[in-house]
Amino acid sequence: MPQAMIYLDHAATSPLTPTAAEAWRRAAAVVGNPSSLHAGGRAARRVVEEARERVAERLGAEPQGVIFTSGGTEADNLAVIGGARARRAGDPGLNQVFVSAVEHPAVLEAARALRAEGFTVVEWPVGRDGRVDLAAARQSLAAAAGTIALASVMWANNETGAIQPLAELAPAVRAGGAPCHSDAVQAVAYGPVRLRAADDDGPDAVSVSAHKLGGPVGVGALVARRDFPLTALSHGGGQERRLRSGTIPAALVAAFAAALDEACDRRQDEARRLAELSARLTAGLGGLPGVVVTGPQDPAARSPHIVNAVFDGCLGENMLLLLDAAGLACSAGSACAAGVARPSHVLTAMGHPAEREARWGLRFSLGVTSRDSNIDALLTALPAAMARARTAGGE
Ligand code: PLP
Repeated sequence: MPQAMIYLDHAATSPLTPTAAEAWRRAAAVVGNPSSLHAGGRAARRVVEEARERVAERLGAEPQGVIFTSGGTEADNLAVIGGARARRAGDPGLNQVFVSAVEHPAVLEAARALRAEGFTVVEWPVGRDGRVDLAAARQSLAAAAGTIALASVMWANNETGAIQPLAELAPAVRAGGAPCHSDAVQAVAYGPVRLRAADDDGPDAVSVSAHKLGGPVGVGALVARRDFPLTALSHGGGQERRLRSGTIPAALVAAFAAALDEACDRRQDEARRLAELSARLTAGLGGLPGVVVTGPQDPAARSPHIVNAVFDGCLGENMLLLLDAAGLACSAGSACAAGVARPSHVLTAMGHPAEREARWGLRFSLGVTSRDSNIDALLTALPAAMARARTAGGE
């Protein structure tokens, strides 16, 4: 990244913190496979189990409920596909899967893949604010009671920051006799992400990813209650309770746990600080002609680190490149789909036309490096970028 680059893409990946890097360095000095029985192996195993306990404690789980994965995508696939298959193996009548229409592709495409196995997959609609339509969701759950394999609803949306009504949805899913998973990849650094205790409102399993919260790329976890049924998606040496075979990367796992601890300790202060920056950005965007901020109006219903706006007549990918040339890094839609220019499925689900507004969206996401001056620089650069993007063609 050039020295002067202003980084407004923390939802895509956030820099490794010094604490996480130090945890990685110390753990990487241990030579041994955590599955080996010699002293080096036992030392590596201690590193892994200590990290597991820390992740479990932060997310309200039992240590055995932490299944380390390569990141959020793998955790989501394991929850949705592994969860649905395990449920149906126990009862062949459980063949319906519910997800929101605005899930990250790691959930949405995993669920859609289940159709080829005979599952019915229902995608819940969202309102203009990007939050699941509770009445529609409740109605479809009631109609499907007794046949529900599972539901998966994200905690906070990666494009708009919209926080989903999990406190209402998770109990409704359970009332239909099924467990509820939540992709908490974008939420865990800023919100009170925890598994449900005995009878409260939280989800039964959550996915988390280290590189969204100051840890390294390539590690994450599915964190599940003991009663969340799972089957393995890949096969091998039987690590991670036979659910995720492959040598456990002790140093990555240690760095992940350190980053999660740090993020949770700073969570309230960072959430407050980023909410102020987001409010400043939202107000500034609102003052630019032809710009509409999307997602919930109520700041309490959005994660403080994400602001998404539609720029009238300006293709998101053109804006992204123009801002990049001006030294500002942001994202058009989600980074995972960014290499391919296509309308945002999130904005489309929110009712923005696919060939217009759903291609004119930009996401600015804040994090540990974000300051007032970054917001001011962005707001200064936007009018010229918009003028040029419009001449480049927006439709
Ligand atoms: N889920 C959400 C909500 C995300 O934002 C992302 C990353 O963009 C993922 C899942 C995928 O996580 P990973 O990059 O660790 O596979």
